Amino acid sequence: MTQRWVYSFDDSDFGSNAGLKSLLGGKGLGLAEMTRLGLPVPPGFTITTAACTWFFAHEHTWPDQLGAELEDAIARLELTSGKKLGCGDDPLLVSVRSGAAVSMPGMMDTVLNLGLNDRSCAALARRSDNAHFAWDSYRRFVQMFGDLVLGIHYTRFSKVQKQYCGDRELSDLTVAEQEELTKKLQEVIAQHGHEFPQDPRVQLRLAIDAVFRSYNSHRARYYRKTRKIPDDAGTAVSIQAMVFGNMGQDSGTGVAFTRNPKTGAAGLFGEWLPDAQGEDVVAGFCNPLPLNDGSAGSEDGARLEDVMPASYAMLIDMKGKLEAHFGDMQDIEFTIERGKLYLLQTRSGKRTAQAAVKIVVDLVREGHIDRKEALGRIDPQNLEYVLRPLISPDAQKNVIARGLDASPGAACGQVVFDSLDCQEYFDRDVPTILVRQETSPEDIQGMTVAAGVLTSRGGQTSHAAVVARGMGRPCVVGCTEIQVDYERELFYAGDSVIQKGDWITIDGGTGEVMEGKVEMLAPESDSGSLATLLAWADEHARLEVRANADTGPDALRARQLGAVGIGLSRTEHMFFKPEALRAIRRMILADDPRSRQRALNDILPIQRQMFRELFEVMDGLPVTIRLLDPPLHEFLPTRETEISEVAEDLGVRAEALVVRLKQLNEANPIMGHRGVRIGVSNPGVYRTQVRAIFEAACQLTKEGTVVLPEVMIPLVGIPNELKVMRDLTIETAEEIIARYGVGPKYKIGTMIELPRAALLADEIAEHADFFSFGTNDLTQMTYGFSRDDMGKFLADYQREGIIVDTPLAVFDVAGVGQLVSMATEKGRAAKPMLQVGICGEHASDPTGVRFFHENGLDYVSCSPYRVPVARLAAAHAALGFL
Ligand code: PEP
Ligand code: MG
Repeated sequence: MTQRWVYSFDDSDFGSNAGLKSLLGGKGLGLAEMTRLGLPVPPGFTITTAACTWFFAHEHTWPDQLGAELEDAIARLELTSGKKLGCGDDPLLVSVRSGAAVSMPGMMDTVLNLGLNDRSCAALARRSDNAHFAWDSYRRFVQMFGDLVLGIHYTRFSKVQKQYCGDRELSDLTVAEQEELTKKLQEVIAQHGHEFPQDPRVQLRLAIDAVFRSYNSHRARYYRKTRKIPDDAGTAVSIQAMVFGNMGQDSGTGVAFTRNPKTGAAGLFGEWLPDAQGEDVVAGFCNPLPLNDGSAGSEDGARLEDVMPASYAMLIDMKGKLEAHFGDMQDIEFTIERGKLYLLQTRSGKRTAQAAVKIVVDLVREGHIDRKEALGRIDPQNLEYVLRPLISPDAQKNVIARGLDASPGAACGQVVFDSLDCQEYFDRDVPTILVRQETSPEDIQGMTVAAGVLTSRGGQTSHAAVVARGMGRPCVVGCTEIQVDYERELFYAGDSVIQKGDWITIDGGTGEVMEGKVEMLAPESDSGSLATLLAWADEHARLEVRANADTGPDALRARQLGAVGIGLSRTEHMFFKPEALRAIRRMILADDPRSRQRALNDILPIQRQMFRELFEVMDGLPVTIRLLDPPLHEFLPTRETEISEVAEDLGVRAEALVVRLKQLNEANPIMGHRGVRIGVSNPGVYRTQVRAIFEAACQLTKEGTVVLPEVMIPLVGIPNELKVMRDLTIETAEEIIARYGVGPKYKIGTMIELPRAALLADEIAEHADFFSFGTNDLTQMTYGFSRDDMGKFLADYQREGIIVDTPLAVFDVAGVGQLVSMATEKGRAAKPMLQVGICGEHASDPTGVRFFHENGLDYVSCSPYRVPVARLAAAHAALGFL
């Protein structure tokens, strides 16, 4: 079949539906489908996206047949409408609209009222008996054509218009004045070396070229880049007979969503303007009026429902037809011309994450789609936003800096620079944003009570990012565009200086930092829809989803969100509380075994209590507790002022503390004295932790709670390391169980987070009941990129195209993936019943989840607020959607 470049909306030669959207674009397809449904669509045709890609591939020229096909299509359109393009007594005017396969609202150009010239304007005035309307349309067209087609900046026209009108509105001009103004606007075009073309065919060809070109405009390319939409698809161009919403008070135009796009609630939602054209509503220059009670728009505005009840009733009727046909919430553009309603566009409406979930669940209940389709329509990543406040899509915002999107959700608060201030503001009920260069364990108190966290340094797995995600606290990290000055209690962001106490808003989902209080949407109120969707997901998923949680409240949240266990409890996070921090500092600074043991004895009850809280919440579910992992110096202060404070608090000399700090200082702490190496050098530390775990577990077992502890040894690379620690754990555990007379069933396992551990996984498995891949460390050790410093060069790598994704956020299937599958295979070969999970940040990354599913892992374990993401991703993996 020869290639066709043009299809009428009512074309019967579409062939199979497959690929039609990529050929006709979303808009073109929507118009064709609405025409087929018998809805009132003004006639027209669509030039395919293939013509656009041809245009770009051939120096902005057209394929041979396009000109002829265009002529045919115009002839057909003239026949159907009974009018001639831009001439005769009743001239045909058209709109020329862009529309790519993936919708890019507002990114490309649309030209309206094409076909108007000096003669057709006069004819239109006679025919419509409304000269004001005709000249208004002509003026709009000249301006639009000059701006979008000829590339003359719109301000050149608005300046002339303003000068001409003075204090008057356009609607106050007489017809003669309208005419004079239109001529003046044509002069602007002439001054820029162009001639306004009177020939409608020339207008049309130039407008089609302009719409093609707008596909590659800076803003369209930026939009595609930020949303990972490929660049080579091109836009289709739909040419449609104009209908007029600006023909007087019995006319109008508007936008309607078939459901509320913010909440998903049923019912038409939208805005309209009487006596106006489409761009007046979309451009946001005027304040539109609400369609009905449930819609946005100015409060006291006249509702379409009341002003034009017949058109409103038709819209309601069409809403039902469109949803039944497309099986989705639609975003419709409509125009009412002298009381007659026309539909100009339909597409799947953009919506918030909250609305998306409610809509698919409701569509299943209403019989429009099935459960699988509903699951497939939701991007797992978006579920994280369902539980967090979001910036309102209508909000006015002044973005002053951008960092990394570490923990989603929006937060607004007064700026503070340390934990104590956070607490003090919190006690006065004032929300805060804690701003730091980076965070350390001492900031945990502030992070707990702050509304959000902003740091100028650090990556996606920095302390701030990991802790904030765990708490569900909105967080932006690595915001290098700000300079934090602790001394003066302010930070700079470009030209702005933000002082302590100033209001800012951060969006942890986009990394944006905004001045002042920005309007937000509350988190989802309809959590029932989310629970329903996730229950459907669980019916398909094979991977189980556990959570990384360190405290009772976090564990409770995780369980409520559907976690079936804890896959990682980082015990170092339990030392954030002041008394625990003091005890571990005393242990680290102890000069002799006796004082070290005394400090450990103080740590024991604190840890026992924390484990108890976890076990109680997770009654009947496994809880994996990782023994101490970070290098000990991380528990000691680094800032000079704090060193003396801490020394005083502990009753030691500041000099002694400085000496100990020097001893603990390591050239490369990431590969230093951390993980299992702490247990080997200081067995008392691990023994105390094991005691705390089993004393809590045995007590609770006695009380009737089902406790399933899993003791996990970090950073093992040598089989014997694990053997030694396993023996220590068993010996301690058995002694306690014997003392209590009852005890839990327990497991001992290890993290696989060093390449050597993966290589020797079979030998390591001999001493392990389970493996849990620590893909944060495994990724950094495999790449040899420090997870705390890679932010310094990552952007350069991405700019050069050396790597595409951030390896710590998107699982590296090609490299780290080989280690994971090899270790799983080797481990299970040595021990078939070996339980295998993953607890690094990739546990809820959909790329990772698919890989872990395919490689037969038993579970993924992620931060509590990402449990819904992982549950849906696990279903997507099982259903082959990922
Ligand atoms: C890991 O390395 O993947 C892990 C979960 O441990 P952490 O992030 O605490 O080093
Ligand atoms: Mg680790």
